[in-house]
Amino acid sequence: MAINLNLELTDRCNIKCRMCSQSMRDEAHGVPMRHMDWDTWRRALAGLADMDDAVHLCPHWLGEPTIHPDFDRFVEYAFSVNAGNRLFAEFKLHTNGVVFNEERARLLVRMANRPDQSADTFRFVHFSIDAYSEAAYRLVKGADKRDQVYRNVERFLRVRQEMGAVRPHATLAFVVQDGNHTEARAFSEHWAGLLKALGRQVAWSWDWPDQALDTLYFRPLNTGDQGAADRMHAEVCRELGIAVGSGDRLRRAESF
Ligand code: SF4
Repeated sequence: MAINLNLELTDRCNIKCRMCSQSMRDEAHGVPMRHMDWDTWRRALAGLADMDDAVHLCPHWLGEPTIHPDFDRFVEYAFSVNAGNRLFAEFKLHTNGVVFNEERARLLVRMANRPDQSADTFRFVHFSIDAYSEAAYRLVKGADKRDQVYRNVERFLRVRQEMGAVRPHATLAFVVQDGNHTEARAFSEHWAGLLKALGRQVAWSWDWPDQALDTLYFRPLNTGDQGAADRMHAEVCRELGIAVGSGDRLRRAESF
């Protein structure tokens, strides 16, 4: 059996999504926020060699991993010691895409296509975007970073194409809520248009993507009034033509 393992590079974040409790607290784990140090990362990875189960590794839990000052070095090291997948079988990255320059994009594509590891090791980069317009981005993400994020994600997709790489796949995520639900279609058309222009096959999903494809993922908001959030999510997904039926809740049983 495989286990999902989150090694949190940092519990800090550079934006304040209104649907994220991390952004509403001064601390995330009952102690001051901090970045993981090099020795902890190195030793944690070394410890994976003793695991009986296959490890699916994610360098993220509550914070934004790419703001770790040594993010690139940490990721490159992890892959450099994983020849033959001796430490982890799979890897995935979740990011808001705010700090994501060309050099980082190239590094990640190189890591995903190392010949010394299984081709499906680096499964995807999940970009939490959640808006199409600047105004909605500011409202939902608590930052004036919409254009920067769009530039960064678009550059990553183009760099991957230029490098002739299929992996890592991209998940472009949108948490449906008041303030952005009216622009779900614009979001979908923008990203699907770009991906198709790059010759990529595109999938749409109303739950966690389970296909090895670039995916536009429309996600329900987790909130106090879950019934209303689920209804809004289901309605948006039906309007986009990615869900059918009349139920108010579209999540699979094991999803959250
Ligand atoms: S980018 Fe992620 S960690 Fe940061 S506030 Fe948004 S959801 Fe939370």
